[in-house]
Amino acid sequence: MYVIIVGCGRVGAELAQLLSNEGHNVVVVDKNRSAFERLGNTFNGLTSVGNGFDLELLKQVGAEKAGAFCAVTNGDNTNLICAQVAKTIFKIPKVLTRVYDPQRAHIYSALGLDIISGTVLFAAMLRDKIIESRFSSYLIETKDLSILEIEVKDKLVGKSVLEINVPGELLVAAIKRSNEIIIPDSHTVVEEKDSLMAVVKVSSLKKVKQLLGVEV
Ligand code: AMP
Repeated sequence: MYVIIVGCGRVGAELAQLLSNEGHNVVVVDKNRSAFERLGNTFNGLTSVGNGFDLELLKQVGAEKAGAFCAVTNGDNTNLICAQVAKTIFKIPKVLTRVYDPQRAHIYSALGLDIISGTVLFAAMLRDKIIESRFSSYLIETKDLSILEIEVKDKLVGKSVLEINVPGELLVAAIKRSNEIIIPDSHTVVEEKDSLMAVVKVSSLKKVKQLLGVEV
């Protein structure tokens, strides 16, 4: 996938490296050239110095053909403007926005933006660590296991969970159908528009996505 990341700070640089190591095409934009030093020597994507909501710059880095855009600067307002530009002007299909202020998170969601509030997430994770151990922390801290969310369409419609599971590599753990969560058994048949939550080994991600016809 072709991904544009605005902000090459602590989050942006980490994300850029993750995606680039997986073979995605990444362009990172930052207003400070020195920020790109965070990317290290192994990063094989592109960098561009400038403002993340500069229309000319975004055109130059190929925003029209991007599959995803992440606004992860350290300013909520900057991220909001970048995300709006990416969504409304360049019509990038996946636009994700980092939001610090939990109060604003609700407003941004109401504007139809797909947001991730590090503040809310981090507080929840700290709470989990203090009170109980949770699987979500394990997923984030190790790089071995992941949860894949799969939208049921095309050849997956009408298949049973047994047919979808890949022994030793992928297991469908839950199905979201409208507002209901189903914990399936192997005979459960999936329907169009279901969303499957599958536990998958990170090393098998590419293989299982190809097997299931999910976008790689
Ligand atoms: P951090 O807080 O470590 O994730 O860093 C945020 C990064 O966002 C820094 O490298 C900033 O230079 C960068 N940044 C802030 N505002 C903009 C902007 N308008 N356009 C591009 N990059 C920005």
